[in-house]
Amino acid sequence: TDTDHEASGEEQSLRTPIVAVLGHVDHGKTSLLDRVRGSAVIEGEAGAITQHIGATAVPLETISEISGALVNPDDFDLPGLLFIDTPGHHSFSTLRARGGALADIAILVVDVNDGFQPQTLEAIDILKRTQTPFIVAANKVDTTPGWNPNENSPIQQSMEAQSDRAESRLNEALYEIIGQLSENDFSADMYWRVRDFQGNVGVVPVSAMTGEGVPDLLAVLMGLSQRYMKEAMAIDVTGPGAGTVLEVKDERGFGKTLDVVLYDGSVRTDDTIVVGGLNEPIVTQVRALLQPRPLAEIRTEKQFEKVPEVRAAAGVKIAAPDLDDAIAGAPVRVVRDQPVAEVVEEVQAELAGLEVETEEEGVVVKADTLGSLEAIADALAEAEVPVVRAEVGDVAPRDIAVASTANEPKHEVILAFNVDVLKDAERRANEQGVRLFESDVIYQLVEEYEEYVDEIERSQQEQVLDKIIRPSRFRILEDHVFRQSSPAVVGVEVMAGTLKRNSNIAKWEGGKPKRIGMLKSIQDEGEDIDELRAGERAAVSIDGPTVGRQIDEGDELWTELPEKHAKILEQELRDEIPSDEIEALSQYLEKHRKVDPFWGK
Ligand code: GDP
Repeated sequence: TDTDHEASGEEQSLRTPIVAVLGHVDHGKTSLLDRVRGSAVIEGEAGAITQHIGATAVPLETISEISGALVNPDDFDLPGLLFIDTPGHHSFSTLRARGGALADIAILVVDVNDGFQPQTLEAIDILKRTQTPFIVAANKVDTTPGWNPNENSPIQQSMEAQSDRAESRLNEALYEIIGQLSENDFSADMYWRVRDFQGNVGVVPVSAMTGEGVPDLLAVLMGLSQRYMKEAMAIDVTGPGAGTVLEVKDERGFGKTLDVVLYDGSVRTDDTIVVGGLNEPIVTQVRALLQPRPLAEIRTEKQFEKVPEVRAAAGVKIAAPDLDDAIAGAPVRVVRDQPVAEVVEEVQAELAGLEVETEEEGVVVKADTLGSLEAIADALAEAEVPVVRAEVGDVAPRDIAVASTANEPKHEVILAFNVDVLKDAERRANEQGVRLFESDVIYQLVEEYEEYVDEIERSQQEQVLDKIIRPSRFRILEDHVFRQSSPAVVGVEVMAGTLKRNSNIAKWEGGKPKRIGMLKSIQDEGEDIDELRAGERAAVSIDGPTVGRQIDEGDELWTELPEKHAKILEQELRDEIPSDEIEALSQYLEKHRKVDPFWGK
């Protein structure tokens, strides 16, 4: 804020933009990150990239070396790019900062052969929601039939060097992706044709395998950040730090530690920090700030080295007491020249913004981070699935206890995203019939659950349907009386519905169905059968009536329907029964309602 700027001891500086990589599984996120890091190691001086906790920093000079003519370092004053190491959007959605996305910019990786896939769409949704600027890396261009690789070359150069056939094949695939982006409300084009990157998404053809297009990718990221994010990158690097917890991890010799990406200010050893916890914000004191040891020193026993201070943007491991209840995705704040209570309140407010709304009845959701919890909650809300409890953490016995008290079988479930199921919990789930769904892909989790609900509903309906008497209308055929009585045996044809064995048979008389007996058996060419469908004929035996008295040739008869069954059929099972049964039902109801308009209602 302005008053901060006037305060003394301030050191304004431009920080590195934070970059996240998203995309569908197997489209090449990891490979692309590895390639960027690998190129940086090859091209740059030793130590040109810095390994942080959970992130890799690539300085401007290295980017300029990789990108050659595409990046002139004199045009830039941002110091480089900080890549979040864990690709995938579940970690991306974890990375919140003050209600927005922690990543300043994103790379959406799309396999040129595979195009948009479910997780691509999921990623697009998250990018839209968090209003994160992004570029598309159209990856695996080297798999274009007839492709001639040009290791680490800028992509336009490499495309020009291809055969016409290969080039046009690739262009086709690229335009497919551009079309899919536009279907999702993003106007897009090849990056070299984009003038206004704020209104348009640039598509960069790349290969993580050959490095083609990687110079372009870095140049576009750098250019975009410089052009549109410079102001947002201006921070007081000595101010109180603000960051987001990537992971809470046990570390030998340190106990529970926080892997944090710091996006503002600085953190120092002995600083008081406030971090979001399971029940309430945790106030504690930094015991040590840990960074990975440089590659050269990896032979030493200890994995980490202690540093006295870390400035944004950076990834750092924070060791401090009382971190057991800290949660991934939660905010971390350094307390400096501000009352602790005020910072606690800020953290609380930010956590409240991340909270999932719960209902009295619904499913239990467990996830690895606040961000992923929120993303699942959104997906469930869209699918109209209520949530009774949503928490960060492994599936524990008490979660089973909650799930087992649900009123409906379809809510006796736990949806677990990217977390472990404790042994005890698994056993109890088996004992109590709580169904566990586990996945590290959100749409799969929701889809599997929806299939399960369909299955339950289908079997419930089948059970109901089994017990319900089904309507039928049938006719006694002329010249098909085989026996007069005890039982009467006659030939019939079913006009509508399904005639079943052991049904009461009725005939309409004076506006009412009058029971005339029970249908004992159905015989088709000497074989006993259970039911007769509309349009079929067979001989049936009916206990009770005598032909020529209660029934006669040409008579119209019905399966007698109890009022309650008629009501369930009409109101609940309409969609489950065939149309000729509905026809028989409607005729039956119509006859009844002529006399009693409310019958079966
Ligand atoms: P992620 O799931 O998105 O992280 O995908 P990976 O980086 O693990 O890649 C999935 C598979 O695609 C691996 O077998 C990679 O070797 C392969 N792959 C990734 N990028 C490329 C590429 O540019 N060209 C080719 N030919 N294969 C690639």
